[in-house]
Amino acid sequence: MDLANKLAILADAAKYDASCASSGANKRDSRDGKGVGSAGGSGICHSYTPDGRCISLLKILLTNRCIYDCHYCINRRSSNVRRTAFTAEEAVTLTLDFYKRNYIEGLFLSSGIVRSADHTMEQVVQIARTLREQHDFRGYIHLKTIPEASPELIEQAARYADRISINLELPTQTSLDRLAPEKNLARTQQAMGRIKLKLDEAHDRRKNGDRKLRHATGQSTQVIVGADDSTDADFLARSDVLYGTYRMRRVYYSAFSPIPEPSVVLPVKAAPLVREHRLYQADWLMRNYGFRTSEILPPETPNLDLRIDPKLAWALRNRQDFPLDVQTATREQLVRVPGLGLRNVDRLITIRRHTRVRLEDLARLRVSLPKVRPFLITADHHPARYLLDSDRLIDRFLPKPVQLDLFDDADR
Ligand code: SF4
Repeated sequence: MDLANKLAILADAAKYDASCASSGANKRDSRDGKGVGSAGGSGICHSYTPDGRCISLLKILLTNRCIYDCHYCINRRSSNVRRTAFTAEEAVTLTLDFYKRNYIEGLFLSSGIVRSADHTMEQVVQIARTLREQHDFRGYIHLKTIPEASPELIEQAARYADRISINLELPTQTSLDRLAPEKNLARTQQAMGRIKLKLDEAHDRRKNGDRKLRHATGQSTQVIVGADDSTDADFLARSDVLYGTYRMRRVYYSAFSPIPEPSVVLPVKAAPLVREHRLYQADWLMRNYGFRTSEILPPETPNLDLRIDPKLAWALRNRQDFPLDVQTATREQLVRVPGLGLRNVDRLITIRRHTRVRLEDLARLRVSLPKVRPFLITADHHPARYLLDSDRLIDRFLPKPVQLDLFDDADR
């Protein structure tokens, strides 16, 4: 098989990995030879570096052959897809060619497991090593690693990569047993723990002046949402452990979407994208706003309300804490007000040192007034208690119902 065909297959097979977000410009696809501007067909996607820059990456699998049989994966051994593999030299050449033509700024490399975890990881490491040591490649490298591979190989991968990740895929061992029987949660977390130790060591060396050290600066993981009956509480509880214990940079939530050649144990319908979105919002609240998982999802509410954002849902469940006086509330209290972000809270704290804060000050900060009004007291506004206690308060935040049309445009 020629290189272009291999690239088409192995770039397409890599697109299911969300831990390096694809540009996903389907509507402007030019793969049929018409127009210009398709990024997907040749495996180019966009991702964010640790310093927040958006960069283009060549996103490929080394091979889509795999000895595992994860039900949700198009590359599982029982799937009837065309198989191929790059040689290490081909993957290196492609990366360098794309890089020299300025198509990409780095490489995202993942792989199915061939022969054994170690055999596969050796090739992954060889590609990264060749790029770094023989070609002095200074672009970004994100390597997907295999938890069952030997610690030495994972350690080497971390030395050549900027970002390293192991996909957890599902939040509990029960879910893994059902959908990815060869995968083991404890083993994956052990591997994450070892990576964390190495990341910590590298961090300390850098802090102590070792400017030349090349080592990954973070690890990330991906979970698939909606492929089984795991609840949002299961996902967030697992993320909490991952952030707290393994210094995870990001947990990526990928809404399950049906794949070609699906396994019978999978749902036939895609998970709603809004669920993925709400999980990202809840994850953000945990990482940046000091929310605990149990506050976002108490035991009696194992799933996020898809209609409203999780901070608003929390405030509606905890109305006894509101309204808050913007003039006297602490920063920790203010960041929990729906509609107030971290930056605006800091601005308000500065403003209130000099003056009594009014609604117009909030409007000037582009705060959504309909959202904050029921929860906040300002110099010129005191929300009525009955409004805050009303069962219908939530209606204010829901999209207005739209009358369905009897005829769609095509019938006119
Ligand atoms: S190990 Fe990875 S590539 Fe193989 S079937 Fe599972 S998810 Fe797919």
